[in-house]
Amino acid sequence: MKHSTKNGLTRREFLWVTSASAAGLLLGCAINPVTGRSQLMLVSEDQEIELDRQNSPHQFSTDYGLLQDRVLNNYINTTGKKISTLTHRPQMPYSFQGVNAAYVNAYAFPGGSIAATRGILVELKNEAELAALLGHEIGHVNARHTAEQMSKGVLTNALIGGIATVAGTQSSGLGSLASQLGMIGADALLAHYSRDNEREADSLGLEYMVKAGYNPNGFVGLMDMLRSTSKHKPNAIELMFSTHPMSDERYRTAVQSVQTQYRQAQNLPLYQERYMDNTVKLRSMKGAIEDMQKGESAMGGEKYDEAETYFKKALKQAPEDYAGLVMMAKCLTVREKYSEAAGFVGKAKQVYPQEAQAHYLAGFVNIKEKKYDSAYEDFNAYEKILPGNPNIKFYQGLSLEGMKRVPESANKYYEYIKIVNQGEKAKYAYQRLVEWGYAK
Ligand SMILES: [Zn+2]
Repeated sequence: MKHSTKNGLTRREFLWVTSASAAGLLLGCAINPVTGRSQLMLVSEDQEIELDRQNSPHQFSTDYGLLQDRVLNNYINTTGKKISTLTHRPQMPYSFQGVNAAYVNAYAFPGGSIAATRGILVELKNEAELAALLGHEIGHVNARHTAEQMSKGVLTNALIGGIATVAGTQSSGLGSLASQLGMIGADALLAHYSRDNEREADSLGLEYMVKAGYNPNGFVGLMDMLRSTSKHKPNAIELMFSTHPMSDERYRTAVQSVQTQYRQAQNLPLYQERYMDNTVKLRSMKGAIEDMQKGESAMGGEKYDEAETYFKKALKQAPEDYAGLVMMAKCLTVREKYSEAAGFVGKAKQVYPQEAQAHYLAGFVNIKEKKYDSAYEDFNAYEKILPGNPNIKFYQGLSLEGMKRVPESANKYYEYIKIVNQGEKAKYAYQRLVEWGYAK
């Protein structure tokens, strides 16, 4: 959906920005009280919260859902809340959770929904490092970096139109796995920050974690871990660095701040034991998580044979792991081994029925197997859990078409092209409508 207007904004953004100003919410250039820096700001706090609410659930699902390990999830949330109440924007509706993804990453949506992957949680050594990680993300929320990137027009497709624009863009190419399966790309909804944003988030994160009573060496430990991971597992950490630009400078700055400004705070605790206690289950999965990382990296390189071997290894260690099961099912789907894929995705639905992604994949596999009734049920189940993904309309239409329920199918295709008007799927849907006499 790239209707360029003369000022370079897409039409959707243009409408969005102008409607924001019409509502009297256009704030323009103002000094940010948190950073003391002049910031172009076209997004109100209510809009930040709304964008978060619309987008974050889709990202969590792309990352294989929230951790089912309640102990660990509560622990992450408690740790985050301890910090967020002491920040410049304590009123934001913060939430802190772990997500099942295996790659190394953490991110924040503009309303304060913050998540860390299993891949990064398993690398942390103490609670102070977790506090540093969450503090950094809280720093992005406080300095309003997502809203700033949006105001500058840097953040284009994602966030602004909900996921509709993203889905539209993704469906136009059939090359990548994400678009082949009709899913949202792993980083499509995430904000990409500037290096200055990173410096600010680091400085705020450090300030907040120390205020909350943590040893600032946790921040140095985090930076050190990220640096070394980038050398040992460059593929697993790629996304983290594309969303949070990393440099040796960030590590050096952290070391220097701890030795000067936060010198006195170095006798504060790191809480290593508490972190270890709360991550017992997670750490027992480390081998499986690393095999999933290798499998995903092989998938990225289109080495599907190799990927399948890694996913098999991961599932041998953790046979009930939702993410592992879905990854294996995706790999088999790409290899067109649909009936095998159906087995894994069926099990994934069983172990984590509340998570949406497996229902989507199951529907996709069922369409390939021409089991249209089951496919239709799967897509309905997905939409009930996670509304707002326009691709579902298309696949519901396709399922109904397979079931020879033409008027209902036409309805879904029509709903789809109302939201997404370019790409292979839109073309297909439109052609059907023409064929059936609903459009000309
Ligand atoms: Zn960052």
